[in-house]
Order: sequence, then structure tokens, then C-alpha cells
Amino acid sequence: MHEWSIAESIIEAVIQSVKYQKILEVEIKIGELRDLDIEILRESLKILSSETILRDTKFDIIVSKAVFKCFDCGEEWGMREALKIMENMLTVDKYVLEENELEPPIHFIPSLVIGLQRCPKCGGMDINIESGRELEISKVKVEE
Ligand SMILES: [Zn+2]
Repeated sequence: MHEWSIAESIIEAVIQSVKYQKILEVEIKIGELRDLDIEILRESLKILSSETILRDTKFDIIVSKAVFKCFDCGEEWGMREALKIMENMLTVDKYVLEENELEPPIHFIPSLVIGLQRCPKCGGMDINIESGRELEISKVKVEE
């Protein structure tokens, strides 16, 4: 399970970085374009930390919103609009997917949505993902 191995790496990284103080809180930032189940990750962190010095640590998971930006005109848009753009692209370009696959299961959307973007303002295809792909330990709070 993907979430399980991510939870393992997070716990390992925190334990190695802070040796002497008690760790009260760990904040983890995850982009909504990461194909992760937050509840499974939360549960994995709880189970894996229970046998370590992090057993009393509070894990805070923050989901950061996706932001797409057009290189040509500077237009920015979020996930809701990105999903609409993707739907339109799939409807127009029937070569991409068979008709019966026009409604992909929800867990495929994060990876699909990146490849199927076009600027809603100028139609540009040169898109940058400003945020939404984070997977990081953003804060560690230790006992003073
Ligand atoms: Zn544009």
C-alpha cells in the first residue's frame, strides 16, 4: 500500500531528525494532485508510530489545493475548473480514450488531470503546476 510506505518514510525521517526532544506535533503537507487516501495515511501513521518514540505525537495532515498556471498569459485556475477542462478535452479528443472511459474512476483523476489541461483563457497548452503535488513534512514541533 502506497500510503503505508509514505507513512513509514515520514516516521523514519522525523525520528532521525530530532534526537533528544520530545516531538509534540508533526505537520505533513500533501497536494491534492497526489493520489493519496488521507484517511489511510492517517491510520498508517497512527499504527506505525505507536511502537516508536512518536507514539504520543499528533500528526496533522494539510491538503494543499492544486493551482495550474498558463505560461503564455499567466492565467491561474484550480482543481474544480481543471476537472471541467479535462472533461471537455476528453469529449473533444475521442482518440485519447474510448467513449466508455469518459468517466474515469475518481482515483485516476489526479494523474489524468495534469496531462489534460489547456488554458481556459487563451487555450495555451504550456501549463505549469504551481502547487498541488507537495508531499512534505512542513512543521515539527518539539517540547521546549
Ligand atoms: Zn493562457
